[in-house]
Amino acid sequence: MMKTYILIFIGIIACSFVLAQEKYVLVIHGGAGNIEKTKMPEKVQKKYEHALNYALETGDSVLKNGGTCMDAVEQTIMMMEDCPLFNAGQGAVFTNKGTNELDASIMNGSDLNAGAVAGVTDIKNPIRAARMVMEESKHVMFGGKGASEFARQQGLEIVDSSYFYTEERYKSLQKAIEKEKVEKHGTVGCVALDQYGNLAAGTSTGGMTNKKFGRIGDSPIIGAGTYASNQTCAISCTGHGEYYIRLGFARDISAMMEYQHKTVEEACRCEIEKLSRLNGTGGVIALDKNGNIAMDFNTSGMFRGFIKSSGEKEVAMFDDEE
Ligand code: ASP
Repeated sequence: MMKTYILIFIGIIACSFVLAQEKYVLVIHGGAGNIEKTKMPEKVQKKYEHALNYALETGDSVLKNGGTCMDAVEQTIMMMEDCPLFNAGQGAVFTNKGTNELDASIMNGSDLNAGAVAGVTDIKNPIRAARMVMEESKHVMFGGKGASEFARQQGLEIVDSSYFYTEERYKSLQKAIEKEKVEKHGTVGCVALDQYGNLAAGTSTGGMTNKKFGRIGDSPIIGAGTYASNQTCAISCTGHGEYYIRLGFARDISAMMEYQHKTVEEACRCEIEKLSRLNGTGGVIALDKNGNIAMDFNTSGMFRGFIKSSGEKEVAMFDDEE
């Protein structure tokens, strides 16, 4: 009799756990930096809000219809690459030579497969090229001209470099040159958990305004700007890339979860503190296999948001928002 009660009790606990678990979750960022409410006109805030919501809905419809986390990450990032508000794809920032050099990477948490492109100048959607590198080549990363050639062979859209010219970014370059500064803003990233229990992560960027011609940041580097493992979590970073590379930022978060059994939130906080100790700035989004989310940063803001299968959805920009 006692045994039956215990079994029923365990059954109820197991059922409520399954019901409480989200079937899928998708988290995005649109870059971290000097994002302050008082300095951003309401009209501009609305534009970002709209773009972030649209990106979340793009990913949501993929996952809702049974799509994989890899498809959701790729399509969400493509949408953000096509939106000139973000520093990725069309809105990419300029190098000190007045050119645009884009980086992107994607990683599949179920088999640790990954693909990346770095320093590309004419691929419309670098995140698609990153996925092609992963699926259609024996390599993990292609750079510059070789990456373009590969993308062309795969039938991806190649554009004239003028496609990446936006007035706003060009003005930012002039200002950065005047101040002799290298500035970051608006990289995009996405992490997703699908209904099959798999995780994926992707990141795409134009890098940093006024970066030296040929400079590669953390975003296309697996383990620095992007990482995903079903054992731990999926991670996408944004910030001053040199620090992220030196810290092995994304992989370090995964390692803390694996070896020290930290939660995804604890591991991200710990890594952001390491970043602050080096005087580096930026942020991170991460998602574990149970759908727990972390969105952490040490700047005044980070464009960010999440959507869950339950319909729960949130978009935020500033540091005083939940
Ligand atoms: N992490 C990017 C880079 O260093 C820039 C950014 O996230 O804003 O290239």
